[in-house]
Amino acid sequence: MIVRARTVVTMDGAPIENGAVAISGNRIIDLGSFDEVKGRNSGEIIDLGEQALLPGLINAHCHLDYTCLHGKIPPQKSFADWIRAINAEKAKLSGTDYLSSITEGFAEAKRFGTTTVANLTAFPELISQIHSPIRTWWFAELIDVRSLEQANELVDLAIESLRLAENWGLAPHALFTASPDLYRCCEEIARRESILLTTHLAESPEEMEMFRDGSGALYDFMKSIGRDMSDCGGMTPLAAFIGVGRVLPTEWIVAHLNELTESDFDLLGRSTRKFHVVHSPRSHGYFAHSRFPFKELRALKFNLCLATDSLASNESLSLFAEMRTFQRNEPGLSPDKIFEMVTVNPALALHQSRHGGALGQIRPGFQADLISIPCSGGTNLFEEIVALDGPIDWMVVNGSM
Ligand SMILES: [Zn+2]
Repeated sequence: MIVRARTVVTMDGAPIENGAVAISGNRIIDLGSFDEVKGRNSGEIIDLGEQALLPGLINAHCHLDYTCLHGKIPPQKSFADWIRAINAEKAKLSGTDYLSSITEGFAEAKRFGTTTVANLTAFPELISQIHSPIRTWWFAELIDVRSLEQANELVDLAIESLRLAENWGLAPHALFTASPDLYRCCEEIARRESILLTTHLAESPEEMEMFRDGSGALYDFMKSIGRDMSDCGGMTPLAAFIGVGRVLPTEWIVAHLNELTESDFDLLGRSTRKFHVVHSPRSHGYFAHSRFPFKELRALKFNLCLATDSLASNESLSLFAEMRTFQRNEPGLSPDKIFEMVTVNPALALHQSRHGGALGQIRPGFQADLISIPCSGGTNLFEEIVALDGPIDWMVVNGSM
């Protein structure tokens, strides 16, 4: 199959005018001007016309479990109140509800041009019943704050279900809900099995207050449900995460990092540990979190990605909308750099960039995950990409339409 478009945005050099790709099976096998590609390849020709062909978008952090909670939880006074509110909503849901929630979430993400999602699920046992229409990294979200099981038992149980998925990883939920044992157990498995790890870190002022000061609404809430609070009072969340016996060279995918003190930035500057950091601009706005320290983290050379988080705190699963919100928050950043945050950068976080995988760019040998959007042919191509509002016109995932 040969796909021709007005412009091919490879994210690997300049866009190609009147360009084309050749696809065989699930891979891109050729790329160039339409005439070149047509001369070198045979097969059906799909002419997309006045469109830009783009790599499919990659959502680096999402909880499709909570698609059905869209609009159910208004913003709360405190983060602890929000946890109470979502727990109350979750108590009303059955396994069947979660199955349809995840299925609807996949459909919505796909409609807005997402071809790969890093999806955290609290229910890995449902994976066997779900057909993902897009490429999915399934992360089991693990919480042991109320668990009667040992950390390794909890992880082993999740892995039994995760192994049914092509791509999987582990997600100890956050420092306030997952024990140091659970984090260490996940790191050991990641090292042994080369799987990915993700977690939530330094999201809210209450999390900072809990760990640094040993007080506040989240501290009180976690204490009330029986958490051992002896790790609180004295260390920021980031220092606790980097510090406590975690010395393995695992590259964590870290969601949030909103709350960082000056000592945290010193720590990050000195540390050889680099994270992939995921920021969800619209969910961030919903929670009215502290300013995301984009410039500081970029100066420290962290790999920065955009994501939607879940519909419990967002309006849609459109990464285009996330790019636009982020552009409003960081007007000095060029739109091509913003587009990297939903293509090249998350591919690197998922170990799928050119040195180890094949996503986030249009290159021979890469996966045929492609989308197209209208393109006027003007000079502001990336501005037009970021401005796209609404569903996309055309896509292939894994070589199939
Ligand atoms: Zn999350």
